[in-house]
Amino acid sequence: MDLIQFQKLFKKEPKYRLGQAKKALFQDLIQNWQTAKVLPLSLREELNKECSIEISEKTFISKDKNTVKALLTLEDGLKVETVLMRHKDKRNTVCVSSQVGCPLDCSFCATGKMGFKRSLEAWEIVEQVLFFARYLKKIKERITNIVFMGMGEPFLNYQNVIEAIKILNDKEGFNLGARHFSISTVGIVEGIEELAKEKLQINLAISLHAPNDELRSKLMPINKKYPIKKILNAIDDYIEKTRRRVMFEYIMIRDLNDSEEEAKTLARLMKKPLYFVNLISYNPTGIFKPSLSSRIKKFKEILEKEGVAVTQRYRFGEDIEAACGQLVAKPR
Ligand code: SAH
Repeated sequence: MDLIQFQKLFKKEPKYRLGQAKKALFQDLIQNWQTAKVLPLSLREELNKECSIEISEKTFISKDKNTVKALLTLEDGLKVETVLMRHKDKRNTVCVSSQVGCPLDCSFCATGKMGFKRSLEAWEIVEQVLFFARYLKKIKERITNIVFMGMGEPFLNYQNVIEAIKILNDKEGFNLGARHFSISTVGIVEGIEELAKEKLQINLAISLHAPNDELRSKLMPINKKYPIKKILNAIDDYIEKTRRRVMFEYIMIRDLNDSEEEAKTLARLMKKPLYFVNLISYNPTGIFKPSLSSRIKKFKEILEKEGVAVTQRYRFGEDIEAACGQLVAKPR
């Protein structure tokens, strides 16, 4: 749907109509404007014609039923993947994509291998969330968290990502609290600086994955433009302005970035208030192997001994290629 067109249709309506439409769309989770009976018939017809809210999708469910991946077809025929993770503690996290493909080409990530097609419009991001909100409604559950950790680099599509968050955060609409959103970035410094200025209490995560520039540049070519020091300086400013915690993601790849030496180097960088490290098992995408669990355990112990806050990420949806770094939107 074209959000500008959507706003335009309501210009000629009484003020309360927009509120009614938002409630129907984001709270009642209608799938077709025809069912929004509070709106006059002519408006519903116009909306259906010009602002369709139907979503074309194909879903894949993991064996343990905790992960659902949806392949959505966009208006221009391109496809994008989005993932629902159902946690044991009743949280339902949706992992949304911000671009079709990704221009960054990190060596461990499957998305980069498909190349970059285009950035998503704000509505195309919102749509991914609505799809799963409708899905969960059938079993009387709700989305509790949204993470920008799907395909693409959110800070290379900053405006649309923030617009989507504002739409989903809107009290009159979907009304998900800002603290329930997280953006993960490779460390685009301009994005970090912009986010620090927003009056939005959302969470920020940095894909670090290596404790020194030499290794990081090998894994993530973008490190040449945004090396570790530059990113950490931007993060320190961000923390000073927002007083919010920042997560540093670290994928554990066997014999590549998981040695004791690397843990110690990482600890020196990460030993700061409001920093915390999230250790992630590498999900196979063909090139590397995941670290052995004994290595991960040792790595974590070293960080903890050095006084760094560490968490470990639970792995979802590997059997349906829905785990981090496995999203490629293959036409099926
Ligand atoms: N471009 C952003 C958003 C994508 S987030 C970013 O890189 O942060 C996807 C997360 O999954 C990132 O932390 C990314 O580094 C991680 N990831 C990519 N490939 C992975 C893989 N094969 N196994 C585990 N995590 C992976």
